[in-house]
Amino acid sequence: MEEKNIKAFGTEASDAPLDQLNIHRRNPTPHDVEIEILFCGVCHSDLHTARNEWHGTMYPCVPGHEIIGKIVRIGSHVSKFQVGDIAGVGCMVDSCRECEYCKEGLEQYCEPGATQTYNSIDKHSGIQTFGGYSERVVVDEAFVLRIPESLDLAAAAPLLCAGITTYSPLKHWNVLPGQKVGVVGIGGLGHMAVKIAKAMGAEVIVFTTSPSKFEDAKRLGADDVVLSKDEEQMSRYAGKLHFVLDAVSAQHDINAYLNLLRVDGSLALVGAPELPLPVAAFSLIPSRRSFAGSMIGGIAETQEMLDFCAEHRIVSDIEIIDIQQINEAYERLLKGDVKYRFVIDMASLRK
Ligand code: NAP
Ligand code: ZN
Ligand code: ZN
Repeated sequence: MEEKNIKAFGTEASDAPLDQLNIHRRNPTPHDVEIEILFCGVCHSDLHTARNEWHGTMYPCVPGHEIIGKIVRIGSHVSKFQVGDIAGVGCMVDSCRECEYCKEGLEQYCEPGATQTYNSIDKHSGIQTFGGYSERVVVDEAFVLRIPESLDLAAAAPLLCAGITTYSPLKHWNVLPGQKVGVVGIGGLGHMAVKIAKAMGAEVIVFTTSPSKFEDAKRLGADDVVLSKDEEQMSRYAGKLHFVLDAVSAQHDINAYLNLLRVDGSLALVGAPELPLPVAAFSLIPSRRSFAGSMIGGIAETQEMLDFCAEHRIVSDIEIIDIQQINEAYERLLKGDVKYRFVIDMASLRK
């Protein structure tokens, strides 16, 4: 293998802190663009993966899949981008492009498996992919997004995972203006869900374990806020909601939220706790409810979401950090102490 040529931040083991390391990036092949990374959001999936909570993490692990940067080199056949363009990369950098799902624009459900931005086997190198906590990334232009000019770059970075992961299920389950939508867990994903569902015209009810988030939830656009630990408050919405998006990263009682659904309502899980969530048959049967899941979104849909966010002036609420603060940021993420997404200023890695 060629010499390791760029700086990155990652971890060598599930119980080791993240620290600076060097990785290799290929030279752009004809369809690749090389991006100098300006900002990278910090998703809870980065933490789950760095700490091997979903098992199967390949070390060293360099997380980061909310990437915004500037194109500094392009391959000879690149047609969508030019040097100097601002571009984004989300959770995927490749897929088979031939299976029925890839052909339908559902690359995230690619049959042989999409190549994730980190912790997937890279078709080029044969080893794991490395994410956006790094100076640069080289990606096939087919998996690179255009960032609308009106969006603040740092605050737009989280759209590439938190934005699309919440936009896609709201579209798929056909949330309509006036419908009552519950959003559970107001972290990076949840706060984007509130903004996007509101922009789609829904009546949004937030369910949070944090009384300190009440005012923020309203400011983000929620029509009502419920403290999920309070049974009396919860009972106000029993059987009332058309759709619930659950973005909780840890164990919780899913039945409490299924019981909020109307007849034929659906709950889509996007939060991915480490352990199974028990579902009671009678949370589903009496009201013909559906319990579902959803993973990020396809490339075309991600572009659609970015354009939707530009049209509705939606970006993430962020706290900018230096890469050297990442371990502290993970601890704060675990305490729910982030409003509402950390974004790394990647210039800190070049210092
Ligand atoms: P985050 O910013 O840490 O937010 C998680 C929120 O969950 C917290 O803010 C908190 O909200 C709630 N929460 C945390 N611990 C809880 C507990 N013990 N009981 C009840 N609620 C709790 O995380 P994120 O980046 O938004 O990610 C959320 C989850 O989605 C993670 O599991 C992540 O891996 C997953 N994810 C999935 C996809 C996908 O494609 N499906 C994509 C990205 C991320 P309140 O304070 O409001 O209660
Ligand atoms: Zn993510
Ligand atoms: Zn495929």
